[in-house]
Parts: sequence; C-alpha cells; structure tokens
Amino acid sequence: MTSLWLADTAPFGPECPLPSQVDVAILGGGIAGISTALHLARAGAQVAVLEQGQVACRASGRNDGQLLLGLGEHYHRIHGQFGAEKARLLWSFLRDNHDALRSEIERSRIPCDLAQRGGLRLAETSHEWLELQQAAALLAAEGHAHTLLPASELPRWLPPARGFHGALHLHGEAIVQPVAMVRGLARAAAAAGAQIVEGASVATVHGEAGDFAVQLADGRAVRAALVVHCTSTLARELDPSRWLARAVFPFRGQVIATDVLPETIAKPFPDFAMSSNFCYEYFRMHRGRFVIGGMRWSVPGEEQGILADDTDNPAITENLLGYVREHFPSLADTAFPHVWTGIMAGTPDGLPLVGALPEAPGHHALCAFNGYGLSFAFLAGRCLAEQLVGGRSDHPALPLFVPRRLLG
Ligand SMILES: Cc1cc2nc3c(=O)[nH]c(=O)nc-3n(C[C@H](O)[C@H](O)[C@H](O)COP(=O)(O)OP(=O)(O)OC[C@H]3O[C@@H](n4cnc5c(N)ncnc54)[C@H](O)[C@@H]3O)c2cc1C
Repeated sequence: MTSLWLADTAPFGPECPLPSQVDVAILGGGIAGISTALHLARAGAQVAVLEQGQVACRASGRNDGQLLLGLGEHYHRIHGQFGAEKARLLWSFLRDNHDALRSEIERSRIPCDLAQRGGLRLAETSHEWLELQQAAALLAAEGHAHTLLPASELPRWLPPARGFHGALHLHGEAIVQPVAMVRGLARAAAAAGAQIVEGASVATVHGEAGDFAVQLADGRAVRAALVVHCTSTLARELDPSRWLARAVFPFRGQVIATDVLPETIAKPFPDFAMSSNFCYEYFRMHRGRFVIGGMRWSVPGEEQGILADDTDNPAITENLLGYVREHFPSLADTAFPHVWTGIMAGTPDGLPLVGALPEAPGHHALCAFNGYGLSFAFLAGRCLAEQLVGGRSDHPALPLFVPRRLLG
C-alpha cells in the first residue's frame, strides 16, 4: 500500500556507502531527519542519515502535503490552549518555517508542485462558523493576512462545494507534493556533504556522548559523537533511556484519492490547502486528482497506538466517501482507487520535541509533530543544527519545544 506521491516520484538516488565515523548520526530519513542533515552539513558537520527504507517512505511520503499555519487548529483555540504570547510565538514559528522552506525550494530548484494560494478552513457547522469568526478577529488584531468568507461567498471560492457554513482563507498556507519536496531536500543535503544511507535499519545505540556505536540490524555499525532521533514513533526503543517511548504516542492517518478527473470536474477545484471540521477532514487537488484524508474521529480509539502503515481501515474509507458525497456532488460517482495510511507521533501537549533528551546525554530528538510535520520540521531542523554546532539557536519559539518541558 503506497501513496500517490511515493508511486509518482523517482527514488532519492545514488547509493551511499555507510561511513565508519561521523560527528552526528541521524536516525530516520523523513522530513525531520533530512532537514536536520541539510542544515548540519551546510554548517560543516560530518553527518550520516540512517534510513531503514527509502527517504520519505513513511509519514513524510504519506501525508496530504499541506503547509498549514496554526497546528491545524483555529487560531482562537490555540490562544485558549497556550495563552496569547505562546500562540503568537507558535504562529511566528510556522510562518518562518514556511518562508524558510519556500526559500530552500527556490534555492535548490526543487520541483515539488508548490502552490502558494493559501488555505481554506471551511465551517462544517454553524457553530464552527462562529468559531472561525472568533479566529478571524484575533488574526485581524495581530495583523495576520486572512479573508473571512460567509457561505454566500463560497460558490466563488470553491464552486463544487455544498453544505459548508462559511470559511476562513489563510493567505500564508500552501500545498506541495511531499515526496518530491523531501527527496529534493535530500539531494540538497547530499550536495552539501550529508551521507544519506538508505536500507540502514538501526537496531541499537550503545556508548556515551562523544563516542556512540550505532549498530544496524544487518551487523554494520557507525561511530558518532551525537545521535539525533528522527524516527517519529517508529523506533522508540532506540533511545536507551526509554524516555521517548514514554513521551511520544503513535496514531495513524488515512487518505484516499481519485485517478485523474475529467477536466470539467477537476477545473472548478482551486489549488488551496483545504479542510473542515477543525481540520479533521483535509483535502486538496493534485494534478487533476482529488485527495482527501481524515475521519479518524469516526472510529474512536481504532487508529491510536497503531504502527502498521501497510493496512487501512475500510470504515474510514466509507466515512470519507460519505463526506465527499455530502459536500462535493460532482464527485459522488467517482471511484477512489488509491488508499493509504501513515503513522504519526503525538505528545501530551500537542507540540513537537526539538532538542536534547532529558535522560540520555548526547541523544537529541526532532520528532512528534502531532500531525503537522511539514509545518514545523524544516525550520526545527535548522534550529537543532544550530544548537548542535554552535550551542544555541535564537528562535523565540524554541523553548516551547524543549523535550524536558514534559518532565513535570
Ligand atoms: C495521512 C497523513 C496526513 C498528513 N497530512 C499532513 C499535512 O497535510 N501537513 C503536515 O504538516 N503534516 C501532515 N502529516 C504529518 C506529517 O506527515 C508528519 O508529521 C511528518 O512527515 C513526520 O516526519 P518525520 O520525519 O518525523 O517522520 P517520518 O516521515 O515517519 O520519518 C521517520 C523515518 O524513520 C525511519 N525509521 C524508522 N525506524 C527506523 C530504524 N530503526 N532505523 C532507521 N530508520 C528508521 C522510517 O523508515 C521513516 O522514514 C500527515 C501525516 C499523515 C500520516
């Protein structure tokens, strides 16, 4: 079971021999590992990415490719959960992540279908419409570009849609083809000197800060001064302190997609990042196909704690199809032959882990994006690289992501 993006994208490329010794061993070659490697290599560190399968073969290759602002939540809820100051810091981090990512895509000429027309948060109910208006009031007060759209405006913005109660258009959101993007970043990292080794399944990490032995399942080994955990929640036992296994929990998302639609059906859909129901359902177009995910809430508990992305949940597919029939009548008779799943990592406070692990000196983490890794990981990888090379990173939002915050 593979995603459209994985099926459509050339492999990362040149086989890289396993180095015997590096400054930093990065475990996992998703967007987190690759972003960290790119910035470390550019800063002059010797770095190896050890990826069990292929670059971007797990969540980073199985998501919906939306670059979102605000954790998927409506902004007033972020204010409510974290307070005004932290909400502003979080927003600034996500905005800076997108700016940095866009610059890198341009600098490295990565062909990844970046469409920067913003995102449409649709109101599933009249209550959600009220909440979108509250979010818009805060965005206006803080000067964030947005457009509030009553239901009467929607036929102009999203002509095929029915039954939504209004929408909020966030100007800074975007969509990409995620595998093309991450593999393009990997090529940029390799060009900067990072050694990206595919088919390198890490079994254990022994030793201490300054002299770790990273042992692969096939018997090979790499020595490294520092280790960065970027395996999401897929290899939690690799942290010898087991702290990550306690702090991070797995959950699974599911996506379905059409084949290329007739132009008369596809053309009226804009290339926005789109979602409704507080971002629980999310959808977008990709080269004439309609791609939609979500409905985890409709099967309570069933998609928590799961580590398998080679199966899917037929009930979720049925519920996604019901959503499509309700909101997009022009797709009511369309087949969705592509179904895939992906594993994500969550934390109790909904924020990622960026930095040193509290109980394992020399071990660092960049993981647990709570379903929004594209929106965080590139800049977070730069911040972590700055910390590892220069001892500090200055982004004011970083203290929010320090792993030791979860100790208390
Ligand atoms: C259905 C779905 C929709 C999503 N939609 C969006 C979206 O629209 N926008 C957004 O921002 N985010 C989205 N996400 C979340 C986003 O995909 C993730 O947050 C992000 O990809 C996580 O990146 P990562 O590098 O931490 O993890 P991963 O991409 O999972 O990478 C971890 C890597 O570690 C490797 N690995 C595991 N064990 C080992 C080992 N023992 N040795 C070596 N390597 C190992 C794996 O093979 C894998 O490549 C979505 C996720 C899913 C599943």
